[in-house]
Order: sequence, then C-alpha cells, then structure tokens
Amino acid sequence: MALESTEIQEMRHAVRTLCAKYGEDYWLQLDREHDYPSDFVRELTESGFLTVLIPEEYGGAGLGVLEAAVVLEEVCRAGAHAGACHAQMYVMGSVLRHGNEAQKKAYLPKIASGELRLQSFGVTEPTTGTDTTSLKTTARKEGDAYVVNGQKVWISRIQHSDLMVLLARTTPKERTSKKTEGLSAFIVDVNQAEGNGLEIRPIESMINHHSCELFFDDLHVPADNLLGEEGKGFKVILDGMNAERILIGAECVGDGRYFIDKASAYASERTVFDRPIGQNQGIQFPIARSYAEVEAAWLMVEKAARMFDAGEPCAAEANMSKMLASEASWKAGDVCMQTHGGFAFAKEYHIERKFRETRLYQIAPISTNLILSYLGEHVLGMPRSF
Ligand SMILES: Cc1cc2nc3c(=O)[nH]c(=O)nc-3n(C[C@H](O)[C@H](O)[C@H](O)COP(=O)(O)OP(=O)(O)OC[C@H]3O[C@@H](n4cnc5c(N)ncnc54)[C@H](O)[C@@H]3O)c2cc1C
Repeated sequence: MALESTEIQEMRHAVRTLCAKYGEDYWLQLDREHDYPSDFVRELTESGFLTVLIPEEYGGAGLGVLEAAVVLEEVCRAGAHAGACHAQMYVMGSVLRHGNEAQKKAYLPKIASGELRLQSFGVTEPTTGTDTTSLKTTARKEGDAYVVNGQKVWISRIQHSDLMVLLARTTPKERTSKKTEGLSAFIVDVNQAEGNGLEIRPIESMINHHSCELFFDDLHVPADNLLGEEGKGFKVILDGMNAERILIGAECVGDGRYFIDKASAYASERTVFDRPIGQNQGIQFPIARSYAEVEAAWLMVEKAARMFDAGEPCAAEANMSKMLASEASWKAGDVCMQTHGGFAFAKEYHIERKFRETRLYQIAPISTNLILSYLGEHVLGMPRSF
C-alpha cells in the first residue's frame, strides 16, 4: 500500500469518505428488503468514481483498470456490496472498444453523466451455463432489425439499468467453422424492450444481487444496435472479461480486508476466560494467515491491472487474480465468522451478509474450475477437456 502513488492514495481516501456516508446499516436494510442502493450508485456515478474508465472525451476520468480496481476494493472494504453497480465499469468497455463512433457518442457521455445506466449484460442461459458458445438465444435479421428469441438466466441489475449488452446467436453453430463464430452482441434498450418481446422475472436468491430470468419472444432490436461485427460477438464479450476478472478480484480483496479488519478488532476486544480471545494463537494465527493470503492476492490483482492498462495480454493474470482473491476472501470470511463465534450469526454484525456476498465470486462470473482449466490447458499446454 505504501508504494501507491499519491493520486491513488487520495482516491482511496475520497472513496472511503463517500462510502462512510452509507454505513453498514444502509446495506443491511437493503438486503432485508431486497432493495437497490439507488442513492449510493447515483453518488458514486456523480462523483466520477463509477465512470473512471470512460475516456475524458466522452465525459469520464479516462483512468485505468488499476484505478477502477482501487475504487471497487475500497467500496467492498467499507462493507458495501459493489455487485450492485460494478458491471457498469466493465460492460462499458465493450461499447468503448467495439462500438462505432455513433454508438460511443450516443451512449458514453450519458453513461458518464449518469443519465443512462449500463449495468446489465445477458450471456448465461439456463440449459447451457458455462458452455457459452452453445447458447440457444437467437437473433434473426429482418429488414433493419434483429428479432431475438430465447431465454437468459441470472441477468443481474436489469431492473436498475437502461441498457443491456446481450449475446445471441446469429448463425447456427453447425454452420460456422469455429464454435466461437456466429455469435453477435447487441445493445438493448431495456425500457423499450420490456413488455415488447422481453419479459423480466426476478429470481429470489441468497444475496441481494437483483438477478433475473429473461424471456425473449420476438424482441425487435434495431440493426444499428449491433455491437461490433455480426458473428464476432464472442470477442466483444471476451474482450471485457479480463477487466471483469481483475475488478472482481479487487472486490474480493476489499471483502477480505473487511473481514480481517473486523476479525482482528473483535479478537482484540472480546474477552473470554479473562483475556482477549486474540491472545490465543488458535484465534490469532488464522487471521494473520488470511491477512497474508489476501495481501498476496492483491499483488496479482495489481499486476494484472497494470498489464491490462499497458495493453499487454493478461488473461492468465486476470484469471489468477479472480481465483486467488475469491478464495482468499472466502477464507477470510470463514475466519471472521469463527472469530465472532455466535455473534457472527447476528445480522447486526453484518458479517453473515458479506460472507454470503463474497461466496458468489468462486462461481460467477466464471467458476474456479473453468479458471483452472484455462490455466491447465491454455497456459500450461496440457490436453484439453472440452
Ligand atoms: C448471483 C449471480 C449473478 C449473476 N449475474 C450474471 C449476469 O449479470 N449476467 C450473466 O450473463 N450471468 C450471470 N450469472 C451467471 C454466472 O456467470 C454463471 O452462474 C456461472 O458462469 C456458472 O454457470 P452455471 O451456473 O450455468 O454453472 P454450470 O455451467 O452448470 O456449472 C456448474 C458447476 O460445474 C462446473 N463445471 C462445468 N463444466 C465443467 C468442466 N468441463 N470441467 C470442470 N468443471 C465444470 C462449474 O465450474 C460449476 O462449478 C450470475 C450468477 C449468479 C449466481
């Protein structure tokens, strides 16, 4: 941390100050009522932190993934749930890197100002899951529109987003030379689409992540909303994935630091058998070990972010940062639970909410097994399993 530039340290301080206005009771209340943190997201946007990655010419701060990672890490460390708004950062990247000039001019300044929310991306489907190239939602060209039919699942924040980046098949898999071909990405105007071919059904789930099932029945998407080239949509999505993995890794580090802050403070003050429980090495050592693991994960997040910002290939580092950080935060959460004993289960201590939230990141946006298979096959050159 001491090696960080003055600018990054100042940014940390400013994000921390903003988050302090929305204490943990704010997040607990939202979790209880399955409500959305509209005020928090608005203030994070208006303060420019949620739009750090948007270039200055489109109204953003024009900073890199490292700065974005610092923002999300601080949000999570403060006890907040960055999952309510993190997607804006990386979904925006698909528009920035693959949108045409008209699309960039139409959307990016409004996303930067908060007038438009781009919080949603629709990839996962109920019957194909991780096997993305087998997805079954289709988009058929008819005149100046694409007609979308199919189903998506776990599409988060769509009810709090004006736009969604959607992945659908425009050419059947069997008519393509590679399974990654024939998929196309679209910018969907959610407000126009809902009730006109798009049905949205919320999923009741373990965390307050605002995830939904989507049903497409002849939804007409204007052809102008094609993002990138027809048939090359997999690349549009894939290109955003490294940033996504790094940013989720940063969130997990924030969660991990949150748990360690809480655990070490409680271990120092809670007295049982006439001494602080943290004096017992059975309590102290797991916290210290977790601290080391979370800090090591941050080094990988930082490395991947710097490589991303330098334009270097960083898929291995991005994947490793997400995997290591999500495992470290989960372990830190477990240690924090154990340190708090029975009180860990009391909602007013907030730990159980963060424990549930951080568990997600070993599964989404990509599960640990798939990262291991990427490393085993693409980095280490072992035989492919699929
Ligand atoms: C709260 C939440 C929010 C989400 N938000 C979004 C969103 O906004 N947009 C979106 O598009 N998606 C979203 N997702 C979906 C998420 O990306 C997927 O759940 C995730 O990619 C895993 O897919 P799956 O659930 O279909 O699991 P499956 O693909 O069914 O896999 C189940 C398990 O089997 C393992 N597995 C599968 N194949 C193999 C293999 N070949 N080798 C070894 N192990 C394997 C997986 O690792 C996993 O552990 C969200 C999910 C959740 C839970």
